[in-house]
Amino acid sequence: MPVTTLHALLDLVLPAACVGCDAEGSSWCPACAATLAGRPWATTPDPCPAGFPATWAVAAYDGPVRAAAVAHKERGVRAVRAPLAAALAVSVAAALADGTGGLLHPRVVLVPAPSRGAAVRSRGDDPTLGLARCAARRLTRAGLPAAVVAALRLARSTADQAGLGAQERADNLAGAARVPRRLAGAVAGRPVVLVDDVVTTGATLVESTRALQAAGAVVVAAAVVAATPRRGTGLSLRSDRD
Ligand SMILES: [Zn+2]
Repeated sequence: MPVTTLHALLDLVLPAACVGCDAEGSSWCPACAATLAGRPWATTPDPCPAGFPATWAVAAYDGPVRAAAVAHKERGVRAVRAPLAAALAVSVAAALADGTGGLLHPRVVLVPAPSRGAAVRSRGDDPTLGLARCAARRLTRAGLPAAVVAALRLARSTADQAGLGAQERADNLAGAARVPRRLAGAVAGRPVVLVDDVVTTGATLVESTRALQAAGAVVVAAAVVAATPRRGTGLSLRSDRD
């Protein structure tokens, strides 16, 4: 049994402790849930890379939200998928709002940011895809029909983004994403919202947007759960993922 699956199994067996703060009693406590309940905002990395799409977030990538995003992505902790997906759904709705109470597009395709193949294989599933599907179900139930197309692949092997600075991340990913020909028809000419759990330097969203547009998709915006607020000068915060 892969170790990540064992982690997921033990999460079900052990007494519940909050993924965000370790408090006992539930896997995602009310105090941590409140950190995902903010109003969505348009976020921009600093520095902002060329080609960065309009991007919406609902939480700062910090504290309990960061703990939950890392646990979900790196350890396959399913207990936080639903709350993260609920927040992502709010972010998608913000991306589609026309400012007058209506929607820019009544139907939308959510495309998850690509995961590195080796990382996905070692975990046995793709957490970002799972998050997108869960968010799409919520949106559809709320009256905003959303389909999910996992259209993006990383066309060549890329280094793990963890520990790389902004420029290194951009260089690492430039030209790396593609839409396979058999999937292009599912996104060409259609309104797409690119979704991911987190945006930090923006390199993943830039490269994903480029690949989707090359396949003919109309990238309306990107939506994420959390964004890294960058402050100060030149010091790049270490992050677990772009
Ligand atoms: Zn908590």
